[in-house]
Amino acid sequence: MPDFIRLLPDSVANQIAAGEVIQRPASAVKELLENAIDAGSNQIKLILKDAGRTLIQVIDSGTGMSMTDARMCFERHATSKIKEANDLFAIRTLGFRGEALASIAAVAQVELKTRKEFDEIGTCIQIEGSRFKSQEEVSTPKGTSISAKNLFFNIPARRNFLKSDAVEFRHILEEFQRVALVHHEIELSLYHNDKPVFQLMKENLRQRIVHIFGNTMNEKLLPVELQTEISMIYGFIGKPETARKTRGEQYFFANGRFIKHPYLHHAVEQAFEELIPDSAIPSYFLFIEVDPSSIDVNIHPTKTEVNFQHGQVLYASMRSAVKHALGMFSLTPTIDFEAEQSFDFNMPANYLPKPPSITVNPDYNPFLHGKEAVPRPSTIQPNRSQWEKAFEVIQPSENSIDQTFHSDNQVFASQQMLHQEETPEQSSSSVKPIQVQNRFILVNVKSGLMILDQQKAHERILFERLLNQSSQQKTAQSNLFPPRIQLSAIDSEILNELQDEFIQLGFEINDLGKGAYVINSYPSDMPVDKIEEFIDGLLEDYKKNRTEFGGDSTARIAMTLARNLAIKAGRVLQVEEMQSIIDELFGCQIPDTAPDGSRILRILPVSEIEKLIK
Ligand code: ADP
Ligand code: MG
Repeated sequence: MPDFIRLLPDSVANQIAAGEVIQRPASAVKELLENAIDAGSNQIKLILKDAGRTLIQVIDSGTGMSMTDARMCFERHATSKIKEANDLFAIRTLGFRGEALASIAAVAQVELKTRKEFDEIGTCIQIEGSRFKSQEEVSTPKGTSISAKNLFFNIPARRNFLKSDAVEFRHILEEFQRVALVHHEIELSLYHNDKPVFQLMKENLRQRIVHIFGNTMNEKLLPVELQTEISMIYGFIGKPETARKTRGEQYFFANGRFIKHPYLHHAVEQAFEELIPDSAIPSYFLFIEVDPSSIDVNIHPTKTEVNFQHGQVLYASMRSAVKHALGMFSLTPTIDFEAEQSFDFNMPANYLPKPPSITVNPDYNPFLHGKEAVPRPSTIQPNRSQWEKAFEVIQPSENSIDQTFHSDNQVFASQQMLHQEETPEQSSSSVKPIQVQNRFILVNVKSGLMILDQQKAHERILFERLLNQSSQQKTAQSNLFPPRIQLSAIDSEILNELQDEFIQLGFEINDLGKGAYVINSYPSDMPVDKIEEFIDGLLEDYKKNRTEFGGDSTARIAMTLARNLAIKAGRVLQVEEMQSIIDELFGCQIPDTAPDGSRILRILPVSEIEKLIK
């Protein structure tokens, strides 16, 4: 009987291990940056081409490696950071498993150049898919430069599995920002396709946060600090009012490592309780220092979950640290609990929905806009027919004779309907709607009582108007002093990704560089002072629901826009406003369903009313 069991060759074993450690360019970036930090660098430069697909290079000013170490570092389980199992309980470095470089070298074409401070000459090593290519002496600055080219060049399946450059770059940015937040004492720069994205000088934490997330962050931050026997908690939280927009940055770091911790997140939320609405998430940048032996470091390199030995005590400390910070700035009494708390626009008091217009777009081709899920509206043929019966409004009592005549004479009645369609003002004057609870509109119709949800109705109207505007490429309003917005690097990426959709909806947004944008035009329904809030909300929505955004993202943006611009439940409406909403709603393609698919209206038939009263 022959034996079957064989040891896998190193190259294969490394490739398998690499699959776990290096999942995408961002994981390689994370490992290389962490190595540079562990090497005590005070200056780190990250250079990328094609979101890391073509090149990831990290140049540091750290300790560098000797000739032998340079060769050794690519071996699996080669690490200088621990010597024995006990060391695992006192880890102060980011790496310790000795897997990263072996993994990267297994799936990329790697070149390492390194020199120790007091060595005269440095070493250059080339290694491709775990195969050693060359080692020679080079003159190179003190420190280490590692470049990984053509990631997954030898595993086509993985390479093809990578997402678009925009998505991969965002993952990289996320890793870069996490490192940058912890190590504000290090000078860090990032270049993508030869363009500088970040050039961060040595600075304090507050400055670092502001330089990463934009100048507007500065006035939003409240410092947090709490020292207890088992932990030190410090950092910043966003003021409660900044959580209103639902947009937030949430960062926990434990002993200098980014972590995700739902339990501690809950502690922060608890501290904010009642200061922000349920739907909003507070921003925070919180650092936790504990004894390394009280934290489970034996975590997977790509996982961000950790276990704390004193989880409950830490929860309580976290909560009181945040509460204290909020209290210190005596924000509590200034918060208006009753105020409208959602990401929300209040219309100017004199705002009136626009009367419907019948516009014909001869070039409109419904087949050019796929996706049945989101119907493309058009006002070419107002969808009256199916609503005609329901909408036959009972005529005012003063012309009761006419009323009898009309209803007896079907031909006349329908002619009048057509007439009404062209001149909505006339039809509205006979509608006489009333508002209930500042939320619903009641209209007396022939078959009974029609009940409309005012907010949803207005969402539908705006949604169709926006999309219609887009399909006709109409430009919207522009402003003598166009508004400007400032975005974080990740948000800029998303905005760039959605440029086409924004243009379709009547936005013209110009990139001024460094996250600054000027909005040269915007949809006519949009109040200028709400633009920034809208874009913030939209980007947040996009980040949370990226997958749902697939397909027709123009419609999705129109939907978000409509939701935010629509008059809200709770808003008192004048009779003319209600009339205008009703008229315009029935000029819509789908008057009974809100853009999100929920119901806008119902008719309570007379027979039901009779039953109710009996
Ligand atoms: P780990 O970081 O878990 O030890 P790595 O595979 O990332 O494992 O690195 C292996 C070893 O190579 C490290 O322990 C360190 O000694 C050395 N090394 C890696 N990158 C650098 C660097 N940028 N500067 C100096 N030494 C480095
Ligand atoms: Mg490492």
